[in-house]
Amino acid sequence: MPLYDYRCEVCGHRFEARHGFNEDAPACPNCASAEVKRVILSAPTFAQGILTLAGDSRGATKEQLRDKWAEETPKLRKKLVDKLGEDVVNRNAPTLNTKYD
Ligand SMILES: [Zn+2]
Repeated sequence: MPLYDYRCEVCGHRFEARHGFNEDAPACPNCASAEVKRVILSAPTFAQGILTLAGDSRGATKEQLRDKWAEETPKLRKKLVDKLGEDVVNRNAPTLNTKYD
């Protein structure tokens, strides 16, 4: 069964739950609320991560930043592929396929 990430809308608790695709979301293990939302690792979140990364390189030249992207993008992409699968990544984050040769 797939593992899902959830966040409780009531107390903000984050948890993982394993259940079937057609089953309802589980109640929050912290406060027992049924108001839980699935957390989906999205491309925008991902791009944000890369931007943060670039922000860490303040003062770097354009070339250094480009190298950093070239170095980090495949790593980040692999993490996404591991979590969501190749198809989902290709569909939702095609920019991560960019080659920096
Ligand atoms: Zn809760």
